[in-house]
Amino acid sequence: MNKLNFILLVSLLLLFHARLSAQLLLDCGTKSPLRLLRTPTLSEKRANESIQIKLFVHVLADNSGANRAATDADVIRQLENTQLMYGFMDICFKLIDIQQINNTDLNDHNVDHESGELLPYLRLGCLNIFVHQSLYFDDGTLNGSAYAIPNTFLSMSAEAIADVDNISTMAHEMGHCFGLYHTFETAEGAENVARSGSCKNCDDSGDLLCDTPADPHSEDYDTEEEINASCIYSGTIQDDCGSTYQMNPHNVMAYGRRACRNDFTTSQGQRMRAFIQNTPGLADCVSAENFTFSPVTNQIWVSGYRFHTARNSILVQGINYEISGTSSGYFSAPSITILPKVHLRPGTGQVVITPADDLCD
Ligand SMILES: [Zn+2]
Repeated sequence: MNKLNFILLVSLLLLFHARLSAQLLLDCGTKSPLRLLRTPTLSEKRANESIQIKLFVHVLADNSGANRAATDADVIRQLENTQLMYGFMDICFKLIDIQQINNTDLNDHNVDHESGELLPYLRLGCLNIFVHQSLYFDDGTLNGSAYAIPNTFLSMSAEAIADVDNISTMAHEMGHCFGLYHTFETAEGAENVARSGSCKNCDDSGDLLCDTPADPHSEDYDTEEEINASCIYSGTIQDDCGSTYQMNPHNVMAYGRRACRNDFTTSQGQRMRAFIQNTPGLADCVSAENFTFSPVTNQIWVSGYRFHTARNSILVQGINYEISGTSSGYFSAPSITILPKVHLRPGTGQVVITPADDLCD
């Protein structure tokens, strides 16, 4: 090998390494906002309410129905992984349905340019999870994206759903949907390590939360390279005050080894609960404790989706309530009472009644 070839080979290897590093860095496509949102305040009563979130999962396949991005079993396994991380903050998930969408274009999805193509499939009143065979943005491949913070829909790649070692991408993207930033967020300045004294800035910098340690991850410093297989971070980089960062590899909103991420902090939980209950669209995804539906005028639904869920009981009564045509009705609660004048007779739609919720148990 002559000198010129050697230089070319080294250059190519460096380029390849840079590309690989960029792809490792960019496993979440959720964009950093220009201005961060402060945690909404809730009354004490609302802050302590149990929260059940309705989920609707859309699994993409090609136009022919082949090349389905995930099995139902893998989706449910990841939902169970996610539930384990949200249970401590009294948030549980109600899986409404898993439906297949045959659309070759959407099965191969660029989150930077094609998010609008998901909108016609959104089920209002549910948090929507899309699973694509291939998920990427302009700078590389992705495991997931929440598109915005907060939001009512997210996307995941087939690989992230199928990977048994990746237990955290779904919980991570949901965290964005529920108002969480990355622990290494810097939109309003880098967070210092200090939690007291003049260097403390955790209330207004980083992810705005003080019980998530300052996290130095950036495009120039990949924390994944400093975390070992035992999930111990041993980086030596320091903040502007000369304190050595001690980021938490277990935090779901950090980057690093995905198998290490299994934990939210108390403040993250409180922030998510506040965003869920205070954000239009997200608040609609929360099941009532007891749901009494008594329309005072006839309601004849011939298209679209109706979701009636409650943590305890549902009572449907009225002048005339009907689900027919292509309309679908989903009812779920431990106790469901349907009185006369309620007609459930879908044509090409469906009526699904489930009495209990495994994810919430
Ligand atoms: Zn993210």
